[in-house]
Amino acid sequence: MTDSRTDVLETVWEHVVERFREQGFAHPADARLSFDPTRHDSCRHFAATTTDGAEVLVAPALADMPYQTMLAILAHEAGHVEDLCCPGVWWFRNGRLLRSEFPSKGARKLVRAWEERSDDEVERVADALAEVALGQKIGYVGHSGCLVQFVGRGKKRPTGLR
Ligand SMILES: [Zn+2]
Repeated sequence: MTDSRTDVLETVWEHVVERFREQGFAHPADARLSFDPTRHDSCRHFAATTTDGAEVLVAPALADMPYQTMLAILAHEAGHVEDLCCPGVWWFRNGRLLRSEFPSKGARKLVRAWEERSDDEVERVADALAEVALGQKIGYVGHSGCLVQFVGRGKKRPTGLR
């Protein structure tokens, strides 16, 4: 599938991958970007990352959104890729992104706790990694039934947002 919308999204994705690489996050460069219109199954859903962090699925309709939303959503998915490719490393606690010192013992326990992070924590890790890579805050804009990410403004991600 090639059209101008997928070209736009590929260009933004390449920019995001480069920004992650500049901050020392190498994994998004290895993820495959695929287009899947069914990812746009609600007004605020445009993309998803497979649980192995190997593939980012994006609905072409994302290209119809403002640039700051395209950038924020693709950077959020790149944040999921980086997180999922580093089991046990990234956490979001007390409003802050934390990185684990990997212990020589107890690593399995650490990874199990990481796998059991709440959905909210997983989503906040993705946004926080995106913010580090872009050097800008990601907020949420729109009405309450349809909040979407936006680089540079918006409110904090509400708890329980899916
Ligand atoms: Zn997410």
